[in-house]
Amino acid sequence: MIPKRIGFTTSFPVEVLFAAGHIPVDLNNVFISQDSSNYVQNAELKGFPRTLCSWIKGNYIAALSSNLDMIIGIVVGDCSNSNSLLDMFTEVNIPIYRFSFPANRNPEDLDKEITKLENYFGVSRSDTLKAKKRLDEIRKKLLVLDEWTWKERLVSGLENHLWQVNSSDFGGNPDRYESELDMFLKEAEKRDPLPTKLRLAYLGVPPIYKNIYDTIIDLGGDVIFNEVQRQFAMPYLLPDIVQQYIAYTYPYSVFDRLKDIKPELEKRNIEAVISYTQSFCHLQLDNLLLRKYIDLPFLTLEGDQPEDIDARTLLRLESFFEVHS
Ligand code: SF4
Repeated sequence: MIPKRIGFTTSFPVEVLFAAGHIPVDLNNVFISQDSSNYVQNAELKGFPRTLCSWIKGNYIAALSSNLDMIIGIVVGDCSNSNSLLDMFTEVNIPIYRFSFPANRNPEDLDKEITKLENYFGVSRSDTLKAKKRLDEIRKKLLVLDEWTWKERLVSGLENHLWQVNSSDFGGNPDRYESELDMFLKEAEKRDPLPTKLRLAYLGVPPIYKNIYDTIIDLGGDVIFNEVQRQFAMPYLLPDIVQQYIAYTYPYSVFDRLKDIKPELEKRNIEAVISYTQSFCHLQLDNLLLRKYIDLPFLTLEGDQPEDIDARTLLRLESFFEVHS
């Protein structure tokens, strides 16, 4: 069988694709690691509105330029734009598949949805679990990397972000990802602990800003907890595939996210929170509740285009650091 390159819009049971011998491609990772400004402009030239989230525009062009055989869109539990984005792919003759996380976080419903996905790709539950076992070996190493970020301070917030965010598809090649991770950990082990004046949490979707982590380090702080990126790395290592994707908080409500966030803030001695929101994203409403229920200094940042942070955002960050570090 020739492996298919299958794009997807956010983390979902990627184990099924690996079990079927295909190559998963996280469209977000393609967009943000390529010429992302041009991707957004190209989408706008094709008529995508200015007032639409840049990730959607970027993911659309990422899909067109990634030589994909099909795209899986997560239509419940991710983005309010996903269904319409999938229609745009249908329009350019890219086959699509719609995956839904159960809005009520019900395990039986998720089990049915995963079974449907397995049937579509012709794999059994035991094939999926075998793939999961292999990926969990790598995820265990990501737990070490995360611990080295908040406890030993051998790993920076940016490195933590990059490794975890890229574990959504393991770059399409888990073996290569793992050997690069092994090399990284070997190097990191030899470092002296990183100095950090202000221990920050980063909440929300990954940033579209290109230099936010570097800016935070320049100001004397570092990100000790990357919330959603850690979710993409499936940190709970539960034995069952359904349990794993029920525990994964991102597709569910902000209250489910808070149940993960609050103990992590305490465990990691977080001193202040940066909550990232994306222009024109429905998750801006979640941010209102995060602010309400988190009792720490809290700075909301809003990014729009893939670029360095603008002067106003930099000033806000500088003032935040002046007051809290
Ligand atoms: S940032 Fe929000 S609007 Fe943009 S793709 Fe992600 S979920 Fe959708």
